[in-house]
Amino acid sequence: MLDRPHPTPKDPTLDERALAKALSGMHFIGGGFVPPRSGKRFAVHNPATGEQVAEAAEGDAADVDAAVANAATAQKAWAAMPARKRGAAVASCGALLREHVEELARLIALETGKALRTESRVEANTVADILEFFGGLGSELKGESVPFAPNVLSVTVREPLGVVGAIIPWNVPMLLMALKVAPALVAGNTVVVKSAEEAPLAVLRVCELMNRVLPPGCFNILSGYGPECGAPLVSHQKVRKVTFTGSVEVGRIVAKAAAEKIVPVTLELGGKSPMIVFADCDFEKTVAGAITSMRFTRQGQSCTAASRIYVERPIVENFVDAMAAKVDAMVMGDPLDEKTDIGTIISHGQYDKVRGFIEEGRATKGATARACSRMPDDPALKKGLFIQPVIFTGLQNASRLVQEEIFGPVTCVFPFDDPQSVLAAANDSEYGLAASVWTNNLRVGLELAHRLEAGLVQVNQNLVVQANLSYGGVKSSGLGKEASLEAMLEHFMHKKTIMVNYQ
Ligand code: ADP
Repeated sequence: MLDRPHPTPKDPTLDERALAKALSGMHFIGGGFVPPRSGKRFAVHNPATGEQVAEAAEGDAADVDAAVANAATAQKAWAAMPARKRGAAVASCGALLREHVEELARLIALETGKALRTESRVEANTVADILEFFGGLGSELKGESVPFAPNVLSVTVREPLGVVGAIIPWNVPMLLMALKVAPALVAGNTVVVKSAEEAPLAVLRVCELMNRVLPPGCFNILSGYGPECGAPLVSHQKVRKVTFTGSVEVGRIVAKAAAEKIVPVTLELGGKSPMIVFADCDFEKTVAGAITSMRFTRQGQSCTAASRIYVERPIVENFVDAMAAKVDAMVMGDPLDEKTDIGTIISHGQYDKVRGFIEEGRATKGATARACSRMPDDPALKKGLFIQPVIFTGLQNASRLVQEEIFGPVTCVFPFDDPQSVLAAANDSEYGLAASVWTNNLRVGLELAHRLEAGLVQVNQNLVVQANLSYGGVKSSGLGKEASLEAMLEHFMHKKTIMVNYQ
């Protein structure tokens, strides 16, 4: 058992272990740290060493009740505040988080195993960016006037929905939380977040910091397990909107619970994103693009990871060699070390799952596995959840490795001969989140961009989610959009029609 929490530091700190302890065992409700009603806590581990770094509050329905009650009370005054003032407050939260970027980056690296330089620092900066972006949109919550009849003024106005329940995953927890919390708040809602059990610390610190600016109760966070804490949040009668990022399986449960109450739900679920490479592409740029697209620096733990790479037959062998050489040159090691490119898998459960997929692929007749990069030799990392990135060739499209989301550093490369057949293979998936096409023939690139079944298609690049671009999948990848002004207006507000007959 760790000690009871010490006060969290006011100034940014670079001592991530002390900060983790200080954040131990608490929810953040109604403007302050609150222990769980049950007194239960669960351990948080550093996946690079196996050491316990903190305990998190184990939330249940009683904690959910308390958080939602606080959020519901706060919502009335928050919604009554001029929209630009709400936006300014959220933008100030962004500015405050910028001062804490290094601290948050170290904390998220500690609890998730994501490398500081390549991933964690990027995430912390993006969170500040998202808050600043949405903070600037306070005056954009506009309705329309409708030409209904002479002497009748008919307008629509946008109103907040009330208390938003947000369930987040562990892969980019601060960023995905910001994509929900920032637009929800600017729109005049208040929020209760349920963090992922694997990564409860950095998001708790973000919530604490934002509460230095926001009125109490506007932004609350609970930690705990899905069925015990997430489910009561989703089905709470006072939660008027649910937004969820996670697996398809849990997404279905969440959607059903929201349907019972008839409240809107946004779902950001899995992906099995195809990358299509034509022989006329810019070879070096595209090889580098494959490394970033596959999110190898995040151990492939991304819904948009290019986990199916289709390469035109004449260049496929060279392409795989060049990719493997690049991944080989990446350094796997201590996430907190600036030299490290690739950190660890998040948990033992994910580790076993990814290893299972790799073993199944290796045992498949006709398949070849190329393991790249070297395992770290530092004895301090002996218990770390490191997995060498693997590039598979020779798998069939029907294989489980090609159809299911692995959420690990595993990609499958296939040759193709013509645009029609590669389009059919790329669309032969339950998922439809993202896709990319790499070619210097823009006619072909655009044609495929229109015909690929995905919420986001990029040609000759594969950037991660951006604050100002609408993001969300089709098919089993989800429902609704996140990021962008459109997502804020369509998914965190409703439109009311007002008609005034002034005759
Ligand atoms: P992953 O496999 O990436 O962990 P999950 O879908 O299992 O994805 O989890 C994503 C989030 O959903 C986590 O915060 C988890 O605690 C939460 N969760 C899991 N089960 C439920 C549930 N029945 N109701 C609400 N939230 C849940």
